[in-house]
Amino acid sequence: MATMTKTARTPQIRQTQCFIGGQWVPSVSGKTFETINPATEEVIAQVAEGDAADVDLAVEAARNAFEQGPWSKMDARERGRLMHKLADLIEEEAEDLAQLETLDNGKPIRESKFGDVPLTIDCLRYYAGYADKIHGQTIPVRGNYFCYTRREPVGVAGQIIPWNFPMLMAAWKWGPALAAGCTIVMKPAEQTPLSCLRLARLAQKAGIPDGVINVVPGYGPTAGASIVKHPGVDKVAFTGEYKTAQIIMRDASQTLKRLTFELGGKSPNIIFADADLDAAAQGTHVGLYLNQGQCCCAGSRVFVQEKVHDKLVDKLVALNNARKVGDPFDPATEQGPQVDKAQFDKIMHYVGLGKSEGAKCLTGGERHGDRGFFIEPTLFDGVKDNMSIAKDEIFGPVLSVLKFKDVDEVVERGNNTFYGLAAAVWTRDIGKAHRLAKQLRAGTVWVNCYDVFDAAAPFGGFKMSGMGRELGEEGLKAYTESKTVTVSMD
Ligand code: NDP
Repeated sequence: MATMTKTARTPQIRQTQCFIGGQWVPSVSGKTFETINPATEEVIAQVAEGDAADVDLAVEAARNAFEQGPWSKMDARERGRLMHKLADLIEEEAEDLAQLETLDNGKPIRESKFGDVPLTIDCLRYYAGYADKIHGQTIPVRGNYFCYTRREPVGVAGQIIPWNFPMLMAAWKWGPALAAGCTIVMKPAEQTPLSCLRLARLAQKAGIPDGVINVVPGYGPTAGASIVKHPGVDKVAFTGEYKTAQIIMRDASQTLKRLTFELGGKSPNIIFADADLDAAAQGTHVGLYLNQGQCCCAGSRVFVQEKVHDKLVDKLVALNNARKVGDPFDPATEQGPQVDKAQFDKIMHYVGLGKSEGAKCLTGGERHGDRGFFIEPTLFDGVKDNMSIAKDEIFGPVLSVLKFKDVDEVVERGNNTFYGLAAAVWTRDIGKAHRLAKQLRAGTVWVNCYDVFDAAAPFGGFKMSGMGRELGEEGLKAYTESKTVTVSMD
């Protein structure tokens, strides 16, 4: 593993205020908060700390844009054109945006550059193409009536996003909302507000009318909760922890808002003895350690069939030992720091629990270096289903290997969690692959691959991993209401 060799570059920070009604404004209270570079623990910038008063202004701007502004009258094809224009501008600033994301979040520059930014552009383009293809049905009803449905925008969408994929999560939420004709009040995560604010600037430059996109940086219990409780917000789309979703569901109940949740997981990644073991090891490595393990769909329970256990574990250990951890701005770096001290402490707590509950730590298990929130790629073998590291979402570079004997056993154990976001199966037996794809209770099942995402493929969770789906047509529908129109033909 490499150590920090280079100092992080500093892309220009141009947007640090609230973006409301097309204006860059300080928070009403005048308060700011620090956003930190997790690789160096240094302050990057002071960002406006919005709260209820700022959310009120943002909702007012969004409502006006939805009800009276040019957005409400705009031709759907023109909406799509503006979204394409936004995607073009992101493409023009791709290098700078990738650097900004790496600076604020700590993810390796190669991931920001070749993952987050292109996926952001792709998502916006995918939904731009949908803007003028949203339509209802004609329905044969009894009697002399003509009945049809219209799909209309749900209204003002409150969008609350986390810090693990800040720019991409903004695109996952803006894309379908804008295509449907909604307006937006977004709260980025307090750890990573910068790329979302930059996107807002680009949206303005693209010609998306003032008030259509509003961004209020701030904290969850203040700015976030104000969005959720606000009577002027019609829908809340949230990505984050299930415990926060429970609070949001409660807070949203007063106004019966539409809700979509994309939450966490403890995803089973199942490797059968008949799999291509090199591919399985590589996919398993990426499926857990990508983004420092800070992925909702991380394959954190790796079930390996007994016969190939030792062989597969040797491969995983070799991959971890070769993994390059360090300066996220070094193009060779594969793993940067965790996003902040709270996440670092949480993960190290779980590493301690893994050790004390009797799992065998084969790699890592320690802090990496003495500056920044770096953690060595950690691999526990001999993990039992009842250990904390096999039950709780750790959200860090900690992989647990569990042995299994046969198909029925692994399906039962794989499903034995209140989560249900993702699962993966590695086998050359196509019948077995499809059988498991059916039996695993998860919103996404990958077969002989991991972390394959596409803007067209719906993503979301069973059980406590979520409600509704993002991406694809399902993701778009979540931003529309269906209206039934019945016309007498007498
Ligand atoms: P949270 O669920 O708390 O944060 C996600 C977003 O929700 C942030 O913008 C946050 O604001 C906001 N928020 C927090 N409380 C409220 C509230 N009462 N009302 C409205 N919005 C609120 O996750 P954390 O960042 O605290 O991470 C904790 C754990 O959650 C992680 O360790 C991980 O296990 C899981 N997680 C899962 C993610 C996923 O993709 N499924 C993503 C991130 C975390 P603020 O900026 O103040 O935190």
